[in-house]
Amino acid sequence: MVKRVYNFFAGPATLPFSVIEEASKNVLEFENLGFSILEISHRAKEFDNVIKQAQKDVKELMGLGDDYHVLFLQGGASLQFHMIPLNLMGSGKPALYINTGAWSKKAIKESQLLNKENTKVVASSEDKNFSYIPKDFTLDKNASYLHITTNNTIFGTEYHYIPETGDVPLIADMSSDILSRKLDFKKFALIYAGAQKNLGPAGTTLVVIRDDMVKRCENKTLPTLLNYKTHVDKESLFNTPSVFAVYVVHLVLKWIKEEMGGLENVEKYNRKKADLLYSAIDEMSDFYRGTAEKDSRSLMNVTCRLPNEELEKKFVSEAAERDLIGLKGHRSVGGIRASIYNAFPYEGVEKLVDFMKEFRKNN
Ligand code: PMP
Repeated sequence: MVKRVYNFFAGPATLPFSVIEEASKNVLEFENLGFSILEISHRAKEFDNVIKQAQKDVKELMGLGDDYHVLFLQGGASLQFHMIPLNLMGSGKPALYINTGAWSKKAIKESQLLNKENTKVVASSEDKNFSYIPKDFTLDKNASYLHITTNNTIFGTEYHYIPETGDVPLIADMSSDILSRKLDFKKFALIYAGAQKNLGPAGTTLVVIRDDMVKRCENKTLPTLLNYKTHVDKESLFNTPSVFAVYVVHLVLKWIKEEMGGLENVEKYNRKKADLLYSAIDEMSDFYRGTAEKDSRSLMNVTCRLPNEELEKKFVSEAAERDLIGLKGHRSVGGIRASIYNAFPYEGVEKLVDFMKEFRKNN
């Protein structure tokens, strides 16, 4: 038996234990082949089966057809901040952004590096320290795309609607809520997510791109590796992908389908966990102050403040003594953050709520 604590870190984050067990068996020997998954050639047919199955499962879970391509790239979500405007911003066709926090800002910055005048922030929640998701924005019908961050890992807010953009392609950074709920994924022209929160270990980035976006990259003179078309044409095998990370993502997708029974159940489970935690915050609002407005609360990253920073430090360290680890808010905002992604168990949230009650009583 290995020791398992409740891991509330924001990412890399907790994974389903059954996935870890399966992966560890295959680290020793992969499918009776006499070598480890860590040693397999990315050109081997057994790995080809893995990556093809993962691509198929992403499409199936998202309900997407052949007009979408599923890529496993490197460079993290952070490289996508640059690849998106590099490939998809058209001249004289502005790139639109909604600014809902630190990660949106980083995406905006990369677009500005390419073309400052052509980068437009059409809505922002910075006026209230990113505590909400803006509902109104002005859409320029001539825009190259509109970019949103569906879940704001640091500020604990999440979109609970999909912005209507008509013919303007909608692009989403879903790094911290990918496959955590049912969505009409067909409304998006491009979706991307670093794997290390809801999908698997760090090291690979999921990019789901619609065919018409790939066409935009066709005649661009770009570094080969930074052109989406390269990866679409070579089905993510232009160069060596993060073989092990892709393998574990494949296991997590299988877990979502087979053990969790699909996205509907995943969403139900995530809502149950978040409801329990937000109810506790609301019931003890004299002590725990939620930082996100109620209609913008994230199901994935639950953030709150305590009466003072001293108590916040004490909370984090006493929680850790009870095997509740990783509750410190992001260094840029402080406070408390509980990241409760798909694989985080309900029992861990119950344990946290019990601890919150006890801590309030004693302090
Ligand atoms: N976007 C969001 C919403 C994130 O939470 C993160 C990482 N925490 C990133 C982008 C950056 O991802 P990466 O480290 O994979 O570049």
